[in-house]
Amino acid sequence: MQAHSINPKVATLLFDIDGTLLISQRAGGRAIDTVFEQVFGRPRSIELRLHGRTDRGILTELFEAEGRQLSDQDFDYFISSYLRELERNLQQQPATVLPGVTELLPWLSEHPGVALGLLTGNVRQGARTKLKHTGLDHYFSFGGYGDRHAQRDDVAREAAAAAQAHLEQRYCPASVVVIGDTVHDITCGRAIGAKTMAVLTGGIAEAELAAAQPDWICPDLRAGFSILQHLLG
Ligand SMILES: [Mg+2]
Repeated sequence: MQAHSINPKVATLLFDIDGTLLISQRAGGRAIDTVFEQVFGRPRSIELRLHGRTDRGILTELFEAEGRQLSDQDFDYFISSYLRELERNLQQQPATVLPGVTELLPWLSEHPGVALGLLTGNVRQGARTKLKHTGLDHYFSFGGYGDRHAQRDDVAREAAAAAQAHLEQRYCPASVVVIGDTVHDITCGRAIGAKTMAVLTGGIAEAELAAAQPDWICPDLRAGFSILQHLLG
């Protein structure tokens, strides 16, 4: 028997979290604001741009606006406080799982030709916290996160490397799909040669996402589910 029939290649689906799998009433953004005020003793002076960005990138920008370079020590301190605030915010105001997700993920996780990973700007523990609160954490066994990288393209590379390490010979670089709600998700997917699926559940205008030319664009993951069922059989 040939090796490929013992270890068939699988499709790797890499999911963004915020605006794609769930929405959390700015639980993360509010946590950042709370910790920022604890650290700097005043509210931030610049706009907090969260969509499609990484936690490392967001904090780097916030610290730079205060004339400070973000050290690893600053980052670790900030994130440990952030995780406590995030947990508290999610307990007070639970996150909402977006349409289609509770049908799609069980189906995909039962599919022998599919591996499920994360591609998120959240720090690893922040991602776990959000997914645990919504009962989705057990679906994902690898991913790329926003702990180390300020640029989402680098997070995509981390996610692809994690998929390869997890799947070994079953990893197929030509069968990777990145699913997310922002232009950054589409561009970072393209940076690793993946197909891209954009969803409109994160509040980004369809025209803006369409201009980035994803392979598929869906109102939500109910429609995404139909496309993936056709694609994967
Ligand atoms: Mg998102």
